[in-house]
Formats: sequence, C-alpha cells, structure tokens
Amino acid sequence: MAQFRRARRLDPIEVSEILTIGAKAAEMKREGAPVIILGAGEPDFDTPEHIKEAAAAAMRAGETKYTALGGTLALRQAIQAKFQRDNGLDYALDEIVAGTGAKEILFDAFMASLNPGDEVIVPTPYWTSYSDIIRIAGGEPVLVPCGDDTGFRLTADRLEAAITPRTRWLLLNSPSNPAGVGYSAADYQPLLEVLLRHPDVWLMADDMYEHITYGSFEFATPAQVEPRLKDRVLTVNGVSKAYAMTGWRLGYAGGPKALIDAMKVVQSQSTSHPSSISQAAAVAALNGPQAVLAERRDSFQARRDLVVEALNAMEGITCPVPEGAFYTFANCAGLLGKRTPEGQVLETDADFCAYLLDQHHVAVVPGRAFGISPYFRISYATSEAELREALSRIGGAVAALR
Ligand code: PMP
Repeated sequence: MAQFRRARRLDPIEVSEILTIGAKAAEMKREGAPVIILGAGEPDFDTPEHIKEAAAAAMRAGETKYTALGGTLALRQAIQAKFQRDNGLDYALDEIVAGTGAKEILFDAFMASLNPGDEVIVPTPYWTSYSDIIRIAGGEPVLVPCGDDTGFRLTADRLEAAITPRTRWLLLNSPSNPAGVGYSAADYQPLLEVLLRHPDVWLMADDMYEHITYGSFEFATPAQVEPRLKDRVLTVNGVSKAYAMTGWRLGYAGGPKALIDAMKVVQSQSTSHPSSISQAAAVAALNGPQAVLAERRDSFQARRDLVVEALNAMEGITCPVPEGAFYTFANCAGLLGKRTPEGQVLETDADFCAYLLDQHHVAVVPGRAFGISPYFRISYATSEAELREALSRIGGAVAALR
C-alpha cells in the first residue's frame, strides 16, 4: 500500500478541537441521541432575500467568469463605501482586496508578510485558526494570556512585554471570538500608543463581528482610532457573520497598497479571487438596506441575556457579559475537582465539556481549544427554545456534581 507522506509544514498543526467535538456530536445525533450543538460559529438566520436575488441575477446576466484579482471593481467600490460609511476610513480602490472568506484574507496577509521565525502577538483566548494560519505561513504565534482578570483584554503592559525584535504583527479581534469582548476606542488607545513606539510592529484588526454589538458598546477600529497607525494596519472584515453569509465565502480588507499587492500575489496562485457570484451577492449586502443588521442584533442580544443570566445562576460558573459576537465564554474553575454521578472527577474544562456531551447531550467547546483554561464557550446563534433546553440540561449537569 502506498504510504502518504504529509508535508512537515503541517507538523505543528492540530485538528481543531471545535471540529472534533462537532463531529462527535453529529455522530451521536445520527445515532439518535437528542444532542444540542452550541459549537458552531455561524448565525442560524438565513441570508436575506435581496442578497440571494442579486446572486441569481448575476448568474443570469452571465457573471460566471473569472473576475479581477482581489475582486471586481463593483465589489471594491462597495467595500470602499462601507469603510467610509461605517468606519470613517478612506481606502483607495488599490488598497482594498476581497478574498474567499476573511480566513483567506488572514492567510494571504500572513503568507505575504511572515518569514520563518517572525512573531505574531495573539492575545488569548483567540479564534483557533489564528495560531495555525500563522504557523502554516512559517511564523510563530506568541500567545499572551488575557483571562477574565483583564476582562479578556490585552493590556498595554502585557503587549509591551511581548514585543521582541522579531515581532511583525499584533493581531486583535473585536468583538472577539470566543469571549465576545469588544475594545472601545478608549480600550484601544493605550495599546495603539505602545505600537506608536514600535514602528516595525504592524496591526491586524479582525472586525468580523463589527455589526453584532450590544447595549452601549460602541464599535471602533484601530485605523480610525489612531490615524497615525493607518499605514501599518490591515482592517479585516467580511459578510459571513453580519449578513448570515458564511457559506458564500466572502471576506475583505483595507490596508497599505504594498501589503495588499503582496496579498494579491498569494491569492493569484491559490484562489485567483472569490466566486464571481458571491462577489455580486456581497455588493448587494454592502450597498443594500442595512436594517437587517439591527433586527438580528436585537435578537442576538435577547439570547445573550438569556444565556448569561442562566450561567451565572449556576454554582461554580461565572460568565462575564459580552459586548458583542454570539458567544459566551464562562469560567468553570468552581466545578473542577468535583465528581460526576458516574464517579469521574472533573480535572479540566475539557472533562467538563465531555461530561456535558456524553451524559447531558449538550456540545460546547472547552477553553483549551482557544488557548486558555478553565473556560467553556457557548455559541448562542441558535433558537431561544433550543437555548432554554440546553441551559436547563447544563444546569442539571452542574447540580448533579458533588
Ligand atoms: N475571524 C473570526 C474572529 C471568526 O470567528 C471567523 C469565523 N469563525 C473568521 C474570522 C472567518 O470568517 P470567514 O472566513 O467566514 O469570513
């Protein structure tokens, strides 16, 4: 039998625990267990009708051919208008690139900028893909723990301490996956001041959850907060979360032309460009009516309140109130050392999550998958009825511990 030899570049990459848990939960479901999956990072809503219509119209009009590298003129104009409208940021058309999801944008940016051993500072907890994309691109993620003691936010001191002569990037995500933490303009300011003192460190701002924010929190983005940094900031965004378009695979960024050009070199030899049909859909999303954003935000906020209140009522769990995104990231330190009715002592957050899935049929993701313990993430992008049932099971599971 032929032996497949995997490239060494994949050696440091692990299969994401989110995927492993998702696969196990799906398998249990297929076998008939009533599993509720609170793992997926995607809105349960459907893509708005006018966006689907625009895609269908584009297909009928023959927009089914290769497009320009980095996106069509119409799409880059829509992105340019979005940055002006929402963020007060002026990017020229050649300072904008669209890709196959924000994931491709991050991938292209790191591939285009990292040499072996170059470091990227990633506050932890972080979206699991960050560290692996950085490693695939040959870089070293420098994980800086930021637990609930700092409200899951990076502090200026910790940033300063993490910077070395090898640091190329700081990667920030607000509102964040998995903690739902938002950096206001005031939260950003001390960090951006540190960067002003380190002219070789660039900043990648992952704004994917920009439109999913709650209460009085006001979204801000670094290039807008500190214009003196704009020439070394990549502002990353996409339509996946805002417009419930995860499957369309369309993300984008604005940044300095030299970086954007290098990213296009990577794109030119991988995807060429995002799907022409998804590009037409994204034009409709960005240029079309925006009322849908507020409607969905209200609905997410009601679910957030439901989840946070229920979790905080459980002994041994504390859950800060997220400013955005559709995740809660609760501390479960108070449960460790306790014994399940089956006689197992919970030693880690992963033990607790396995107990929830195996005995109570609720799939959530341990903090470990996001680089910090002991926590667990709930994705509340699902119906209120399902959330209520899941929370009642989690409550029962916690109450059964001794
Ligand atoms: N950034 C963050 C923080 C995310 O959570 C995700 C999706 N899970 C992405 C980027 C990538 O989104 P997409 O590739 O669908 O645009």
